[in-house]
Amino acid sequence: MKKILLINPATKKDRVEIPGQYKGSDIFRYPKLGTLAIAGVTPAGYQIEITDETIDIINFDAGYDIVGVSAVTALANRAYQIAAEFKKRGAHTVIGGCHATFLPEEAKSHFDTVICGLGETLWNDFLSDHNKNPEISKKIYSYNQAGAPKDLLHGAPFAARFAEGRPGYAAGHVFSIMRGCSKACDFCSINAFFNRRVYKRPIAEACGELKNLRHPIINLVDDNIYSDPAYAKLFFAAVKNYGKHWLFQASTDIVRDRHLMKLLEEAGAKGVFVGFESISSLNLAGSNKNHNTVDKYKRVIDVFHEFGIVVEAGMMFGFDDDGPEVFEKTYDFFYKLNLDLMQIAAVTPMPGTPLYDRMKSEGRIISDNWDDYDCKKVVFRPRKMSVEALVKGTEWLRGEFYSYKSILKRGIANFGSLGFIGTLGYYLRGNLGFKKNHSLGLDYPP
Ligand code: SF4
Repeated sequence: MKKILLINPATKKDRVEIPGQYKGSDIFRYPKLGTLAIAGVTPAGYQIEITDETIDIINFDAGYDIVGVSAVTALANRAYQIAAEFKKRGAHTVIGGCHATFLPEEAKSHFDTVICGLGETLWNDFLSDHNKNPEISKKIYSYNQAGAPKDLLHGAPFAARFAEGRPGYAAGHVFSIMRGCSKACDFCSINAFFNRRVYKRPIAEACGELKNLRHPIINLVDDNIYSDPAYAKLFFAAVKNYGKHWLFQASTDIVRDRHLMKLLEEAGAKGVFVGFESISSLNLAGSNKNHNTVDKYKRVIDVFHEFGIVVEAGMMFGFDDDGPEVFEKTYDFFYKLNLDLMQIAAVTPMPGTPLYDRMKSEGRIISDNWDDYDCKKVVFRPRKMSVEALVKGTEWLRGEFYSYKSILKRGIANFGSLGFIGTLGYYLRGNLGFKKNHSLGLDYPP
């Protein structure tokens, strides 16, 4: 029987070096759904293992026939190192994920096979070719993303769940009902990856998979459930009685839809990640993030709180309208609004995005080392501050926002809306998790 190893690489800082000694808070450490989905579509007759470098050390000498690696840009160099090691040992190496999709020729110079786009739709084509003759499978697999059928996810096998629940992982399941996003933010890899198309699973199929999942926490990894409000309503109405706690991602405009908000509350929604990105209207307009209105941020946070949902804001710094004062202004702004959690990143022009092309054409990219694309280091020349000021400013903001004083003030203010479960289970754990990872200097994201 052929042995397949699927690998999720990690940055040097996040990688486990001593068995069992994981880096940072475990509440953010979920298995990657893409890898579970690949394992799920793999036909019988293969022995499959999954190695995640945030909790495992790769065994290069276990005699794998095929090694598949999924990587975002910050992990591309690590993926190439892994491929080199396995190639020395005679394994057939395959890469998928965002970075390889956008730069397939670069990826092909390190891996035997490159899979572009949604990997689970092409993995079995690769395996079938590989079975016939490994040489013919040494190529780039892709589909025409602009012309991909709308029913791409219909009938998809369920994700393999054997890697969930392992020591080191957060409690709960990763889950997906749709892929892609209807918006077109110019820095976003999702938008570039899916060509602004949204693929949905039939609700009965998603519910069928959900019924088998025992843990109450479901981390819905889809990028924006408000990409299709009608579909989201049908889904959350269908799962109302499943007894789950949902963590999900949505665009700010979701709060306009009180019917959907009510359905989310009834289904057990507990936490949302929302891309606020910036408190400058100029930055938002410049990023094509036109669905965000700074004047309405208070209302967005208040409506989520009204429905008992903890709000994690995605914020980026170093946009063209950001000067050195942006960090303190942003802190004051969200401190007053009692924002629950903030993911603080440097603007990072990822290859494949319109932002990258713009920065490149303006000659502002200052690093081609993919290791630097971790959203903490700065890889471009900002307009209104120095690179050093941007790095220092984001560090300062992480320290201030996750100071005990700030955590306590915001927690007390939000307790009435979030209650015991929301405050202790999600607000407090989230804040302490970010605080711990910040104090260790870990990479989050990715
Ligand atoms: S709304 Fe979010 S997921 Fe959608 S394109 Fe913008 S940043 Fe990407």
